[in-house]
Amino acid sequence: MEEWSDGDWVVRQITGATSTKPYRCPGCDQLIQPGTPHVVAWPVDPRSFAGTGLDERRHWHTACWQARDRRRRR
Ligand SMILES: [Zn+2]
Repeated sequence: MEEWSDGDWVVRQITGATSTKPYRCPGCDQLIQPGTPHVVAWPVDPRSFAGTGLDERRHWHTACWQARDRRRRR
């Protein structure tokens, strides 16, 4: 679990071997190709799931996830 400026997030490292389909990274809006190690993150706070369900889980490039906090800070 990681603490960020917008709350606590559960973060999982995904190895390329278990990544079998492309995901769109919300950080850069580019596809994460199958076989690419990356990060899956979702909010710990269950209220964040309202209306969205488990699809709230987001797949990020590792670098985009790490740059996320800087991007959002005003
Ligand atoms: Zn990205």
